[in-house]
Amino acid sequence: MLFQDFNLNSRLLKAIDDTGYQSPSDIQKLSIPLLLQGKDIMASAPTGTGKTAAFVLPALQRLLDNEPGEGRGPRVLVLTPTRELAKQVADNIFTFTKYAHMRSCSIVGGMPYPPQIKLLRQALDLMVATPGRLIDHINSGRIDFSRLEVLVLDEADRMLDMGFIDDVKKIAALTPESRQTVLFSATLEGEILRVAQKILTDPERVQVAGVKFRHESISQKIHQVDDYKHKRSMLAHVLNSHDVNQAIVFTATKKSADELAKELSEEGHKCSALHGDMKQNWRRRTIENMQKNKITVLVATDVAARGLDIRGISHVINFDLPMQAEDYIHRIGRTGRGGSTGTAVSLVGPKDWSLLSRIEKLLDTKLKLSVVEGLEPKKPAIKQYGSNAQGGKRKANIRFKKRAGSFKHRTGSAVRVKSKSSAEVA
Ligand code: AMP
Repeated sequence: MLFQDFNLNSRLLKAIDDTGYQSPSDIQKLSIPLLLQGKDIMASAPTGTGKTAAFVLPALQRLLDNEPGEGRGPRVLVLTPTRELAKQVADNIFTFTKYAHMRSCSIVGGMPYPPQIKLLRQALDLMVATPGRLIDHINSGRIDFSRLEVLVLDEADRMLDMGFIDDVKKIAALTPESRQTVLFSATLEGEILRVAQKILTDPERVQVAGVKFRHESISQKIHQVDDYKHKRSMLAHVLNSHDVNQAIVFTATKKSADELAKELSEEGHKCSALHGDMKQNWRRRTIENMQKNKITVLVATDVAARGLDIRGISHVINFDLPMQAEDYIHRIGRTGRGGSTGTAVSLVGPKDWSLLSRIEKLLDTKLKLSVVEGLEPKKPAIKQYGSNAQGGKRKANIRFKKRAGSFKHRTGSAVRVKSKSSAEVA
């Protein structure tokens, strides 16, 4: 299944394309069609399943489809228990409105009031808020919900645990009954169910147990490298293999992109760098040359290459692994586009195993370690991977737990349950 199958507005599809997401995740497959039909849903999906896009995309589609009502209050309101989660939702909105020009704002606690008051005087399309601060503004008569079309309660169970539920009920009561309501919660039982029954209208239940972002059109490999020299030999080997049509090589810094591009040009590759320090028109020329196949190897940094859509790219090579696991998804999404297949190769040095573990955790997949004859690593690959990688993985887990409270990556099937009736396995 592809995002195109949802019949989303082309401006949203273009923004999705830029992210490098290959196909909808389970929670997206289940929720998006229901929300596009205007149904209320109560959904359970852990963080990391793509749940934010599952409610943000249909809400944006609705805003694009409908004429705004009279007034200037928000048309979509997302309530989150914490500032951090509000930021994550706001980031998603920012990503997906790249071509759709919407006005959105965050109204969260712990921030000064005056800028928020200023924002609330303007007409708004989307608002992301934590309940306590929002109630303050409501009590001061600063918000009008009369044209609200969609209300999202994200991590409703945490809002309940944090004592926000009365605020949530109060806010919901101030919004039009005709609104669409979406509730996401780790559990859909007990008190949450009672709240849902009050706030939602004839909801469908959607549940997913785990995540697996599929990148079926991309073959992903890793090569273990001992040091820089070994890494360069491996890069040369990959670039010289007969199945490379065009490649993007990712480096960690602009300086290393320039240096590597120069070296590869000297080795005979039609190569250029692409990074943020280059003048805008030079960057455009480079991309055009890549499109015309005048350049076959582009050495790029993350920001510069985000959203690149060049059909001929057969290989993405992570010369340096990305510091953020999510950038791995953005990077490999530059290949295997438009029905073609692609290959993503990551070169993993001695210090990179924990980065790799984080990527594998996000993908919920173990990447395949490949060995090239004549370029074998000095240390046995399996031992290295088994020991350091596990160590790295543990470290990555702990780091994530500190940031996100609890996080479990489990694989499992997705189940959509029509309220009161039997389960359908997706
Ligand atoms: P969330 O569960 O919303 O916190 O999303 C977790 C991560 O998955 C975020 O980094 C998203 O950018 C990413 N993501 C969301 N949807 C997809 C998708 N369909 N394919 C790949 N990555 C995705």
